[in-house]
Amino acid sequence: MKHRFLLLLLLFFFLENAFSQQADRCGARQADGGGQPHFFPKEVKKTMAESRAVVNIPVVVHVVWNSSEENISDEQIGSQIEVLNKDFNAGNAEIGGVPLMFQQLIADVDFHFCLATKDPDGNPTDGITRTQTNNNLGIGGAASIHYTSQGGRNAWNPEKYLNIWVAKFAGGLGGVATFPGQGPAAEQGVEVNYKQFGTIGTATNPPYHLGRTCTHEIGHYFNLQHLWGPGINSCCNEDDGVADTPVSCENYLHQCPTGTTFSCAAPDMWMNFMNYTDDACMAMFTKGQKVRMYEALNEFRPGLLTSDGCATVGVEEEVSGNELRIFGNPVSGQLRFELKSSDGGDWQLCLYNPLGQAVICEAKKANELVVIDCSHLPGGIYFLVASQNSVRIAKRVVLN
Ligand SMILES: [Zn+2]
Repeated sequence: MKHRFLLLLLLFFFLENAFSQQADRCGARQADGGGQPHFFPKEVKKTMAESRAVVNIPVVVHVVWNSSEENISDEQIGSQIEVLNKDFNAGNAEIGGVPLMFQQLIADVDFHFCLATKDPDGNPTDGITRTQTNNNLGIGGAASIHYTSQGGRNAWNPEKYLNIWVAKFAGGLGGVATFPGQGPAAEQGVEVNYKQFGTIGTATNPPYHLGRTCTHEIGHYFNLQHLWGPGINSCCNEDDGVADTPVSCENYLHQCPTGTTFSCAAPDMWMNFMNYTDDACMAMFTKGQKVRMYEALNEFRPGLLTSDGCATVGVEEEVSGNELRIFGNPVSGQLRFELKSSDGGDWQLCLYNPLGQAVICEAKKANELVVIDCSHLPGGIYFLVASQNSVRIAKRVVLN
């Protein structure tokens, strides 16, 4: 514990003095306590990333608060999950502004984040915990945030859930993350300042008002480096280990450039999520970054691939003799489907939104065409679930 305390003292000295101007964006390197992130070879295994279907990542958000303002609302948490699902699925509005020279590099990462529907004990949950702490100076960035006994909140099994702690940070730091293989299991995850988490409530002050602090930190969680490389002062002679991100030197802190800018030989990709650019000017991950994230997922965080933390909405299965047939997917306006089954009686049919909430539920008979008007629902990845007694069938539905 003394060792940890010393590290923390060093950390805060480091943040407050040497790099204070960067503190509002990201402290991922510093929070790692001296370890080095894992590096993968530049030679990428393209087929692995491209052949996999959408990966569901169960998320638990631990709100650790002192003043009531820090106890952010469910809606604010939901706004962050929506940002993640846009940013990691190439669905964010800023993509339209990516310069032509980089457009072919834009990756649809195909990570689907869902607030957990099942807790580690198998009980239903909304994927949010709330803990009042007596630390009024800011517990974010401190090791104690990960431990209930120290005024924080214990992680849920990090092999099955992505743990996100939201709290006030001492010194105004924006966020920190653990790289794969760094730090104890109990501290794996991402921390985000409550003033930069989501897009509403306490997180409406530019330039960190669009939820990109969390996007950036989750990039680190899946082993992405800053574009300028792993070191504090690394520059054109260092790289981030990803072949299709240009070697660069500038971190673009407090900047929102337009047009082509250079800090090394090739034009800088200042709109990449792994720079320090203002939220409004971030837009993309590259295909190379996607491969690196999948490698990290497979090698270091494989439990997320088989987690049932989002089981209510994350399962696509067909039970013998029963089938959900969807006519037209993606769906525009009306969702049309038929449940083929020899089981009579009523089936409960529910449509779950990207947050895992049931937005429409109806009882229907099998073997009939069912039409549900979805025109009032926002676009995104939904799940249609048919259930009767202990039988459940689920199909993914994309609403335009
Ligand atoms: Zn960072």
